[in-house]
Amino acid sequence: MALLKPKIVVVPMGEVDFMLVNKLATNIGPVYRHSVDILKGMKTPPEAFNFVRNQHYAQVILSKLERMKANPNEKVIAVCEEDLYVPEEAYVMGWGDIVSGCAVVSLFHIRQQFYGLPEDDSKIYPRLFKEVIHHLAHLFNLTECRNPKCVNYFSRQMLDIDNKSDRFCDICRRRLTGVV
Ligand SMILES: [Zn+2]
Repeated sequence: MALLKPKIVVVPMGEVDFMLVNKLATNIGPVYRHSVDILKGMKTPPEAFNFVRNQHYAQVILSKLERMKANPNEKVIAVCEEDLYVPEEAYVMGWGDIVSGCAVVSLFHIRQQFYGLPEDDSKIYPRLFKEVIHHLAHLFNLTECRNPKCVNYFSRQMLDIDNKSDRFCDICRRRLTGVV
């Protein structure tokens, strides 16, 4: 049996800016030393939408992503604009599942508009990059880091993302070396 080569698959979902996702796909490969495929894009699954909350249920999106995997070693990450939630949280900026190897990150709470601030496009990409690196770290078996400057630190809100760097701390980097 041929070895199944591990890959990261990036999925632009819904009305997301393809150029932004393309830039992301180019930059995450070297961090994890994996090749990256970028898919043409998929519709946001309508069944994920919750009319009462006016948000999309992240877990439903993950189950859709799991079906797109070409082999079990792939890590699939979608980028969307939708406001995401899980039942125990008011919102989530991203959500992932280590068992399925899938995650979704949303730009909704990464945009300054959400906080009533003027939009600043130059800040969107760095935030997206950090969030995606953070969620991929989980898919590669890393637990969250307690160092607020580490890219693998859990960010509850946009300012947490701005306050952390786009790199792993020394501990996370050593842990990651063992798994990728
Ligand atoms: Zn760390």
